Amino acid sequence: MKTSETRLRAKIRELQKSLDLFDIILENVNYGVVVQNTRGKIVYENRHPEKISLDKKLVSLEIMDKDGNYLDLADLPYQQTINDFKTHTEIIKRRNKKAGEEKWTRITAVPVFDKKDQLVYIVSTMRDITGRIMEQKRRDHFIAIGSHELRTPLTGIKALNQVVHRYFLEKQYSKALPLINKIEDKTRVLAKIIQDFIDVEKIRGGKLEFAPESFEFGQFIKEIVEDQNTVYKNYKIKIKGTVKGSIIADKPKLEQVVNNLLSNARKYSPNHKAITVELKNDKNRYIVGITDRGIGLTKDDQKHIFEPFYRIRNTQTEKISGLGLGLYIAYKVVSLHGGRMWIKSQPGAGSTFYFSIPKVIRQAKISYDF
Ligand code: ADP
Repeated sequence: MKTSETRLRAKIRELQKSLDLFDIILENVNYGVVVQNTRGKIVYENRHPEKISLDKKLVSLEIMDKDGNYLDLADLPYQQTINDFKTHTEIIKRRNKKAGEEKWTRITAVPVFDKKDQLVYIVSTMRDITGRIMEQKRRDHFIAIGSHELRTPLTGIKALNQVVHRYFLEKQYSKALPLINKIEDKTRVLAKIIQDFIDVEKIRGGKLEFAPESFEFGQFIKEIVEDQNTVYKNYKIKIKGTVKGSIIADKPKLEQVVNNLLSNARKYSPNHKAITVELKNDKNRYIVGITDRGIGLTKDDQKHIFEPFYRIRNTQTEKISGLGLGLYIAYKVVSLHGGRMWIKSQPGAGSTFYFSIPKVIRQAKISYDF
């Protein structure tokens, strides 16, 4: 008698342990989980914010499908699964009426049958896919502006080329020269767009290759700044601080990072022409801060600025062309060297883009951890 009671107690303890584990898992998964019986009554739901309260009236939420049609609770997958016992998935957009915030959720409802093949539960999982949907939208937008950005310099090159051709036929070489320079500028713009695009594809496929070499870091920055000051005479870049010592890194790629940040500092400060490059170092790394007094960035934009295709669209930026790839590439190049990139900014007051870079790259970081 006693032994069977002890055995029973042990079994209950074991069961409780499994239930606790089950609870821990469901409370910590990265999606909302709701289990309902066939009458729609909720028998379990975790506390994840993604969870859509299926049994309550959605007072503060508007639910739409991906084409923007309003959905009723009866259109949600769990209701469809109750009706036909099959798995259903729907991507829905939720708009919080009060906050005006939009979120995208993928809901999948799965039927659970007992041993006699009777439907007993419907398990719905809800996953936030807002980031992915927004990136997809930006990618679509990119294809639209990307082709425009490519066409503009191409059209210019074609037109200039015709004129140069005529000058050559007429042997007016001195008139042709400035136009050839213009063609060169436009070709550079074109090549940069194409290179950015290739880099993004390489980064995404884990195929960006590095060719590390040893060079003097302070001298490297100084040369970039001098080159830029020669080319862009209406801006003045000053270096603050000095660093001594070398670095082992991919020089052309780091140059691309610094050039991108300097190019942005110019592009987004149409009225303030002073830019500062601050240099610091500690034992293991160099730190660079590029400061402009331009249009600056809101806290919300700062959160997304390093995402691919992210561009801020407002009255101040509408006339500034770009594809939203430069910062993403720079961020990735720095990260793959084992460094970090971050930003301090205030709308209307300007921005500082910082990056840190280890003096010696850690090989492990160079292998692609995507
Ligand atoms: P692009 O400049 O080609 O659009 P980036 O990836 O370099 O792409 O930058 C993404 C966005 O970040 C820009 O569209 C711009 O809105 C914002 N941004 C970048 N640098 C600055 C800066 N220095 N000041 C203000 N906004 C910036």
